[in-house]
Amino acid sequence: MAGIYLHIPFCKQACHYCDFHFSTNQQQKTTMVRAMVQEISIQKNYLGDDPVSTIYLGGGTPSLLTGDELQTLLSAVHENFEVTALPEITLEANPDDLTAAKLKLFKACGINRLSIGIQSFHNPHLHFLNRAHNADEARQCVKIAQEEGFDNISIDLIYAIPAEDHRLWQQDLQTAMQLHPQHISSYCLTIEEKTVFGQWLKKGRFREAEEDFAAEQFEILLHTLQAHGYEQYEISNFSLPGYHSRHNSNYWKKEKYLGIGPSAHSYDQVSRQYNVAHNVRYLKALAENRLAYEKEWLQPQDQINEYILTGLRTKWGCDLMKIKTELQYDLYAHNAPYIEDLIARGLATLQDQHLILTPQGKLLADRIASDLFAVS
Ligand code: SF4
Repeated sequence: MAGIYLHIPFCKQACHYCDFHFSTNQQQKTTMVRAMVQEISIQKNYLGDDPVSTIYLGGGTPSLLTGDELQTLLSAVHENFEVTALPEITLEANPDDLTAAKLKLFKACGINRLSIGIQSFHNPHLHFLNRAHNADEARQCVKIAQEEGFDNISIDLIYAIPAEDHRLWQQDLQTAMQLHPQHISSYCLTIEEKTVFGQWLKKGRFREAEEDFAAEQFEILLHTLQAHGYEQYEISNFSLPGYHSRHNSNYWKKEKYLGIGPSAHSYDQVSRQYNVAHNVRYLKALAENRLAYEKEWLQPQDQINEYILTGLRTKWGCDLMKIKTELQYDLYAHNAPYIEDLIARGLATLQDQHLILTPQGKLLADRIASDLFAVS
């Protein structure tokens, strides 16, 4: 099953930590939607015969779209692709956009999953991150969405925001638990060079949280969510039973996906395409009825290593048979002593030909993956 990702490259303001592609000038929003519809039509054969089972509107801030703009995009997807019955259709939303009226429009368009960028329930932290919403809006938007009938809600939370102790993080998690979202994605605050925090770091105006502090907050996250029945199905993603993100899971399982919009990526199992991350250049190319992207053909070794890297981060692990039959690589045979050592140290298990990291192993997932990489 394939997925379609639609990148909406507009935001109200720039969060200090964010290095995604977006513009705070929304004047070209309608033109952008039209161009994206055109790109959908040009790319209608990209996924071959694979039906589309998930559609994901990310960004940027898709909740800035009007109901009409959203409907235009989704109709274009349905007109150009075979979409399965009951597809998962996710919309990323910011709390300050989620009024009851807007949520009704989203529902009418077929959105059946919300991913809400809450990040924190504390005003000083929200201000520090330069988020456009406040703590009240963060709490209220989940309740309003639930009242409007959304029963598949994910919230994003950021940990390792510099602080004196873990109290605010524990309070954030308690507030989250009281709201009962079906899914939580939680990421460590990392500082990227081309962001406001990156600039501050360079000028000595910002101090990142210590590694130990971040690791302790991650442990608090794991224990709190586990105690409330959430399963960690990927390092940063937790869900109640039956509510994992089908769209993201397909990425990790190496299913095909098509990315539409500036900066969106596509993957067809043999190559990757990267759309230009520039609104004006993207629009100019579509105005000339062409696409602006770079393409990379994946070498067998790249595919093996990508699969190891992403697979080990998930609860499904690496399917040894899949690597052997589809990628002609015997991961176990190449690494038998190393894998047996991981198992002996309680860092991994082998179940039905799947190499799966234990919770302790997941903390070392990137290092273990690079130890297992195929080398030429
Ligand atoms: S709203 Fe999201 S995409 Fe926009 S700047 Fe903030 S984190 Fe980045």
